[in-house]
This record gives sequence, C-alpha cells and structure tokens, in this order.
Amino acid sequence: MKLTKSFNRSLWAFHFNSGSCNGCEIEIVAAITPRYDPERFGIKLVGSPRHADVLLVTGPVVRKMRDRLERVYQQMADPKVVMCIGACGTSGGPFYDSYNLDGPIDDIIPVDVYVPGCPPRPEAIIHGVVVAQQKLERLEGEKA
Ligand code: SF4
Repeated sequence: MKLTKSFNRSLWAFHFNSGSCNGCEIEIVAAITPRYDPERFGIKLVGSPRHADVLLVTGPVVRKMRDRLERVYQQMADPKVVMCIGACGTSGGPFYDSYNLDGPIDDIIPVDVYVPGCPPRPEAIIHGVVVAQQKLERLEGEKA
C-alpha cells in the first residue's frame, strides 16, 4: 500500500468500546499483531482521540457510553473517519432489542465505514482501514 501525496502521514486509529462483548476487541488485537503487521504501513492504535485520524467503534452503544462516544468523536480533529466494527455497532446485533441501548452507532455519530461480522475477521478489519484511508485521502485532497 502506498500513501498518496494528499495523505502523506501515518494513519493513526483510536479504539472505543461502546459496550461490546470483547469479541470484536480480540479481532482488532489480532489485526495488529505481527502476523499482519499493519504498523509497517504506518497504521497503528493510539491512546488519545486527539491524535487519531480514524475512530474504531465496537459494540452496540449502551446508554451509559453514549455521551462518552460523542465526546471522543468531538475530540478528534478534522478530517476524521469513523469505522463501525461488528454487527453490534451496525444494528445492535444480538442485543438489538435490549432496553439498555441508545445505538446503533450511526444513530449517534456519522459512520463512514462498516465492517460486518460477529466478530469480523482481522482481514476484514484491515480492509476496512484501507477503505477508511481512501476516504481520508479524498477529504485531505478536498481540503488542499
Ligand atoms: S459483533 Fe459479535 S463479537 Fe462484536 S461485540 Fe457484538 S456480539 Fe461481540
């Protein structure tokens, strides 16, 4: 993968768990292990939304996480891209009719890339990041 001129820096991602069962988290961890090694392309997880270009959200957004999700989204600088990882964030998944949900994610913040699955495989997550990167390149190009 080659970064274009319009997006000439590493791609940093911040992960937010909005109430996931931890299955999607395990696949995210698998995606960043040496087997796939996305860091060789400059793609890595960071500890602060203020440093991130991409927000990875897992889970169906339980009521107590709603305001935190909104706050994390607002803390990210533009241009930014939101990736919804897993069936829970897309539709509520197995928890879709729970009394405790404020989600799915796109009811709360705009989602740019959906990665389906319960949980999605690491290959699908990495493919989603590539799609997110293409979207960021477009946004950066429009800004330039
Ligand atoms: S999509 Fe599946 S694996 Fe991911 S948080 Fe929901 S139930 Fe868990």
